[in-house]
Amino acid sequence: MSRVLIIGCGGVASVAISKCCQVPEVFSEIMIASRTKSKCDALAEKLRPTTKTVIETAKVDADKVEELIALIGAYKPDLVMNIALPYQDLTIMDACLATGVNYMDTANYEPEDTDDPAWRAIYEKRCREKGFSAYFDYSWQWAYRERFERAGLTALLGCGFDPGVTQAYCAYAKKHEFDTIDTIDILDCNGGDHGYAFATNFNPEVNLREVSAPGSYWENGHWVEIPAMSIKREYNFDQVGQKDMYLLHHEEIESLAENIPEVKRIRFFMTFGQSYLTHMRCLENVGMLSTTPVMFEGHEIVPIKFLKALLPDPASLGPRTHGKTNIGCIFTGKKDGQDKTYYIYNVCDHQACYKEVGSQAISYTTGVPAMCGALMLLTGKWTAKGVHTVEEFDPDPFLDALDRYGLPRSESHDPVLVD
Ligand code: NDP
Repeated sequence: MSRVLIIGCGGVASVAISKCCQVPEVFSEIMIASRTKSKCDALAEKLRPTTKTVIETAKVDADKVEELIALIGAYKPDLVMNIALPYQDLTIMDACLATGVNYMDTANYEPEDTDDPAWRAIYEKRCREKGFSAYFDYSWQWAYRERFERAGLTALLGCGFDPGVTQAYCAYAKKHEFDTIDTIDILDCNGGDHGYAFATNFNPEVNLREVSAPGSYWENGHWVEIPAMSIKREYNFDQVGQKDMYLLHHEEIESLAENIPEVKRIRFFMTFGQSYLTHMRCLENVGMLSTTPVMFEGHEIVPIKFLKALLPDPASLGPRTHGKTNIGCIFTGKKDGQDKTYYIYNVCDHQACYKEVGSQAISYTTGVPAMCGALMLLTGKWTAKGVHTVEEFDPDPFLDALDRYGLPRSESHDPVLVD
């Protein structure tokens, strides 16, 4: 029995909320709160006849700490699930500290305004010191470690699929398969086709920022940064087939390098089709991915926000998307003195997700782990206080929950490796 406040009601949140309603014995009462209350009301109305979970809704601007404190103070939840945008991570963490409530999210902090001089000074110093230039990094949220620990609260960071399940796979490999891990390759394949020439599978602004940034990987204790999309490999994915994939910077590399310090190399690859890449390069070349406002006919416009308004809403891709995703991790390392390799992954079908919860598989593969992470915190399976990423917790009950609630694992002890 618990009360949970869920902030955000977009593609990922809608799946997480639908899945919470499938477990009313734990999620007995939930409040859906977001910027546009009508979306919360519509989802609540759709779900109420299907569940015993008591659903309330509210309007909140999660950029405003005082508004959040008032809402959390009035509802008194056991946990706040932040499934809005990474821009709101710090304000929601502040509000959780002020009200003494546990916190979780699905993506690490990045600022909405990357031109803010105060943020930029810190960012540029971090780029020089650490050697990667993505707008997001864990330092902002790791800075809350002591405060959460002192308050006896838990903040669970990045509990989607990647980040999230990929780190649980790493913790599982370390616990059950290896004495030491030498290399980790995280492979994220979307073999789905939505029939549009160009659309993003989750929030376009966050997605395009991530994909157009330089790539980087962790090797022998430091970051190696490369131009965007300059390392390409092909891989034959189970139930999807042969795909081109490109090396990207990704947030879980940063925490894995800290938490599994023996690992010599960690890379992240994501598949992209040629149409996506051609459109993205073109949009970037003409300045449509810029976050810097421009004046147009007397109005200030942020190009990437204008682009977001033109692109299909990721939440609308569900009925059109066919095919499967395949996301997982390939490991090399040693067990009992012997070299070994291991691959653990999940295959998810877009249309099966749509039939179950009305969403495509990208929202599904993020929303289900968010619900399962909340389940771990609410049922006392994960209890460490402070600010933690998924690989710091016991992977077994979490992977069991994923098996049960829609994202079962597959394994190979003889995988083809990525060169
Ligand atoms: P959407 O854009 O579909 O949804 C975002 C939601 O947050 C919307 O309901 C939006 O409200 C709400 N919101 C935005 N700003 C505010 C605010 N200031 N106050 C209150 N509510 C606000 O995004 P997605 O569902 O695609 O993504 C959600 C999160 O999941 C993101 O952080 C994304 O990075 C992360 N993600 C993580 C993945 C993983 O594997 N770990 C994979 C994919 C996504 P409105 O309706 O008014 O716009």
